[in-house]
Amino acid sequence: MLHKTVCKSAALAVASALLVVPNAFADATDIGPAQFEAVVQEAYDKYKGLREGKNADYIPILTTVPSDLFGVAIATRDGKIYSAGDVDYKFSIQSVSKPFTAALIMQQQGPEAVRKKIGVEPTGLPFNSKIALELYPERSVNPMVNAGAIAAVSLVKADSEKQRWQEILQNLDDFAGADLNVMQEVYDSEYKAAWSNRGIANLLYNYERLYGDPEETLRVYTKQCSVGVTAKELAVMGATLANGGVNPLTGKRVLDSSHVPELLAIMAVAGFYDESGEWMFNAGLPSKTGVGGGIVSVVPGKFAIAAFSPRLNEAGNSIRAMRAIRHIAGELGVGLYGSNRE
Ligand code: GLU
Repeated sequence: MLHKTVCKSAALAVASALLVVPNAFADATDIGPAQFEAVVQEAYDKYKGLREGKNADYIPILTTVPSDLFGVAIATRDGKIYSAGDVDYKFSIQSVSKPFTAALIMQQQGPEAVRKKIGVEPTGLPFNSKIALELYPERSVNPMVNAGAIAAVSLVKADSEKQRWQEILQNLDDFAGADLNVMQEVYDSEYKAAWSNRGIANLLYNYERLYGDPEETLRVYTKQCSVGVTAKELAVMGATLANGGVNPLTGKRVLDSSHVPELLAIMAVAGFYDESGEWMFNAGLPSKTGVGGGIVSVVPGKFAIAAFSPRLNEAGNSIRAMRAIRHIAGELGVGLYGSNRE
């Protein structure tokens, strides 16, 4: 008995010695307005000349978005915004919508619904992978990739397609503290070309991992991806998560604070698709990217960084947005596991 107790406390001592307190570096950092302003401007200036990558083209309309656009914004948990560049330009949110609809499922049905009915593992495969669906028994795998996000849309509690859409849009509005709208020409272009996502919806249905009609779900999912946002609005959406689920502009609680860690964990392991490991290695922040060129990163309990620029790398992640956010995270020393400088 005594032996058991000693072993137990020894094990506890070892465990606490090994325990890493996430965000310890961020807590130690006292960042003031001048520093936020300076670092945002610096990130913008540093990367505004970068021309690598190209606009997404599998959604035809995205090729027409001016490739040189570039904006960087920080929103803090007390509602202050610091920005540089094209931060008022509306672009389609695309996959950056995914964590927010996953949040809606958590809020309606609890995080276990996401874990059991969608999944929380990274796929290690591209965002639109059909192979992942065949490889993994969860099929949808996680709500940050297309399959899981399509499943999430079908899980939203609603009696009709119209109501499903209203719930999703209202939730995005609540996170942004703004009235967001579908960019109709983006929706038309994407829905017309949505053969890959239609395939995913049908495969999920086949495996009983879609919880509604495939075509209806596809329409609502495509609308969700076609919502227009600015970099500033995206930063506020992230800041709502940084602020424990309360929108810093409106004061409205959008997500229970107890669900925020689970959501951020999924963003950390899968928010950058098959580059998620690389991103956590480089920047150390839970984030979500979209093929419209937007990225949002969350510094839990502090602030969010958003950036937008249409040119993407092979994995579908905006090159300038990625570089700018990484620069800011490094300069401010807010990576979750310590300061990762560029
Ligand atoms: N609407 C896009 C799709 O379904 C989202 C992909 C992304 O932004 O990564 O393919």
